[in-house]
Amino acid sequence: MFTSLSDRLTATFKNLRTKGRLSESDVNKTVRDIRMALLDADVALPVVKEFTHAVRERALGAEVSQALNPAQQVVKIVNEELVAILGGSTRTIRFAKSGPTVIMLAGLQGAGKTTLAGKLAKWLKDQGHTPILVAADLQRPNAVTQLQVVGERAGVPVFAPEQGNVGGHDAVGPTGEGTKSFGDPVAVSRDGIREAVNRQHDVVIVDTAGRLAVDENLMKQAGDIRAAISPHEVLFVIDAMIGQAAVETAEAFLEGVDFTGVVLSKLDGDARGGAALSVAGVTGRPIMFASTGEGVKDFEVFHPDRMASRILD
Ligand code: GDP
Repeated sequence: MFTSLSDRLTATFKNLRTKGRLSESDVNKTVRDIRMALLDADVALPVVKEFTHAVRERALGAEVSQALNPAQQVVKIVNEELVAILGGSTRTIRFAKSGPTVIMLAGLQGAGKTTLAGKLAKWLKDQGHTPILVAADLQRPNAVTQLQVVGERAGVPVFAPEQGNVGGHDAVGPTGEGTKSFGDPVAVSRDGIREAVNRQHDVVIVDTAGRLAVDENLMKQAGDIRAAISPHEVLFVIDAMIGQAAVETAEAFLEGVDFTGVVLSKLDGDARGGAALSVAGVTGRPIMFASTGEGVKDFEVFHPDRMASRILD
């Protein structure tokens, strides 16, 4: 991912003169090239605008530096602005001061939430935490089983509704009129947290249901779960391959569940990826983690500075 964006930006910088001061027209041309490269990579327009404006202002005002030639200065500015739109500094889970840290996962179906639940649990376990997974995606009968498989792989217990509840009936209450569901996800989430407290797990990861497109009922359900369990973190998982729809989806989830952080999944794919990179810039929420494959270890903390360097490499 990002190879074409990376190549385009590198080519742009190659054209820059290395001696003397950059003229206004040099800067304008460079900024235009950067703008095209970002747009072609699917970076959202408001982010592109803010980005190119900042680069232009800074490049025109750049001091003559002894250490860097003009081209290097522009690369430095672009690098710093990329780090800024990617969220600035690295941020991961903020743990609760007392009691279990509750992490809720939200996102569209197929985004990679359940897979991420296992990866996150394993990552936490490797750091000495004692996570438990809670199966609150009761929309698809398979989701509970899938989470159990994921939990087994990660060596982490899974709290799921009693067999008797997983029978498939029309849900009452929070899941909304007529929504086919397998039990009440709000009750399961609450019970899961109680279980975590009783068994002294220090982190609870609640997997919630997604739909193929943003759906009012599902969003309400996610909002209800959020309100019932007051999670310390709400992670919005987004498939980096979804392209232009990323920003709109992120905005809908920001409104629906007010997520505290973003997880970019499927960063191992070969899509253009720029839309996913815009999510932090558009929502003001940090990208915390990246998922880079189907395996439980294909997971990393997202470092804006390293990602920027990778793009500008
Ligand atoms: P959910 O519906 O949001 O819970 O999504 P899943 O966790 O079930 O993931 C949907 C599909 O994407 C599954 O086939 C996963 O194996 C796959 N998947 C999840 N994360 C990644 C990733 O980072 N890279 C790749 N290549 N596939 C992934």
